[in-house]
Amino acid sequence: MRTGRFAPSPTGPLHAGSLLAAMASYCEARASGGRWLVRIEDLDPPREMPGASDLILRQLEACGFEWDGDIRYQSRRHEAYEAALQQLHEQGELFWCRCSRADLARLASPAYPGTCRPFRSPRPEAAIRLIVDADPVQFTDGLFGAQQEDVAATVGDFVLKRRDGLYAYQLAVVVDDADQGITQVVRGADLLDNTARQIVLQQQLGLPTPEYLHLPLLVHPDGSKLSKQTFAPPLPLTETSPLLLRALGQLRQSPPPELVAERPATILDWAVRHWDRQRLTTTAIVATPS
Ligand SMILES: [Zn+2]
Repeated sequence: MRTGRFAPSPTGPLHAGSLLAAMASYCEARASGGRWLVRIEDLDPPREMPGASDLILRQLEACGFEWDGDIRYQSRRHEAYEAALQQLHEQGELFWCRCSRADLARLASPAYPGTCRPFRSPRPEAAIRLIVDADPVQFTDGLFGAQQEDVAATVGDFVLKRRDGLYAYQLAVVVDDADQGITQVVRGADLLDNTARQIVLQQQLGLPTPEYLHLPLLVHPDGSKLSKQTFAPPLPLTETSPLLLRALGQLRQSPPPELVAERPATILDWAVRHWDRQRLTTTAIVATPS
């Protein structure tokens, strides 16, 4: 069955940019009768905001979203990530790196040069990296079209577990997308250049590759991305219908203006029945003040 997901990090409340990803992933899944899951990507406690996970779920409810199954929390998935690392270790794909930030900053190339590749077994105070010798990755994005990236040249051997013991986003997302049976990933275009790394990992772990659809970014009038760091206002917990209508407009779905008087669930129902991904364009969307 077609299965999509919305996977926020609890570093702060949802904002208008997150709503586009929630809306588009929801419509893509539901329009084909598929499932829609919510996953809280709470991998990095120092960066998280206390209470944000619960706030995010209340924001989704206030916008009328209904998810299937239980909420998944990545903070409860460490055994699965460790098992994936163990598999890669047994396959001889990992090494333990003690290069400092300063060491890496001195390099001319952005790609990791393979300095610590000889260290194929655990050692203390080390990050765990994946050996990347793969051919260039090719995939077709549902909106941005044919993509190609030579991960060995652009990123090199990338980190799967940090020196401080935190699991890397790339590892957790690949393990959980497969474990949850995700068939389609819909998310912001700022993650387009993470996709090739995730496909490399899927191939090394013998996991399927889902379809990808990246959405145009929501930007401020000066072109900077709307984010918690740029003080995008949080979505409110009441009176969300105008925001849903605005999000549908930003996704070029042309909702009828009178829909604004309806409840959020009714607006989402309209959105699913009328969803047309052909209307999306890759052009960044300039946010208008609410
Ligand atoms: Zn190193």
